[in-house]
Amino acid sequence: MCGITGYIGNEGAAPILLRALKKLEYRGYDSSGIAVLNNGSIILRKMKGRISALENAIGDEKIPGTAGIAHTRWATHGEPSDINAHPHTNESGSIAVVHNGIIENYAKLRLWLKERGAAFRTNTDTEVAAHLINYFYEKTPHPSLLDAVAKSVEKLEGSYALGVVCAALPDRIIAVRKDNPLVVGLGNGENFIASDVPAILEYTRDVYFLNDGEIAVLYRDHVDIFNEQGEPVEIKPA
Ligand code: GLU
Repeated sequence: MCGITGYIGNEGAAPILLRALKKLEYRGYDSSGIAVLNNGSIILRKMKGRISALENAIGDEKIPGTAGIAHTRWATHGEPSDINAHPHTNESGSIAVVHNGIIENYAKLRLWLKERGAAFRTNTDTEVAAHLINYFYEKTPHPSLLDAVAKSVEKLEGSYALGVVCAALPDRIIAVRKDNPLVVGLGNGENFIASDVPAILEYTRDVYFLNDGEIAVLYRDHVDIFNEQGEPVEIKPA
């Protein structure tokens, strides 16, 4: 197993993400990492080992930014290492992705993306998701991150819960799942994603369990959810 979490609000994201990750520790993991949106870029911190090791490495550094995603990894493709830890990014680091699950057709997708110029840093299955989203995002004249994620997951075989952020869009986090759990936490001026409820329970009790194929777009003040056909889904908190 392993875990995903994400936060978008008005507080510093890094401490909230690390706290939520700790609540997911029981699920087992070999590495952890966070990606925080800040001023048109993404600050990435990740490493092999315990969350406390990541916290120690961050130390007194004040990571600015009020939105981000985080991950605890249970390696399936690629050894546990700093570089293989999530989040993973496209080449320029403008799109970051956390993923639970297994992308079964990653080898084929990797080849397809390499033929189109993508340069890979790791041998994880997850890295293809970052490059694929980037591919669709860059390809369109009026890029939409939501469309890019929707087109990408159409190509993925396997299981996934994904959290996605884009440096150019600091006002949103995108989340999607198939055969892996993901819950959206609805707060007041802040919203969350997590692999399970305890990770975010201290912030909100209003949760929405994403269904397979649904995509959530989290903003600070609201959340939009779309089904596989791209139609809006009414959010009924559980
Ligand atoms: N398959 C991915 C990896 O090995 C994600 C594993 C997980 O669910 O943590 O990096």
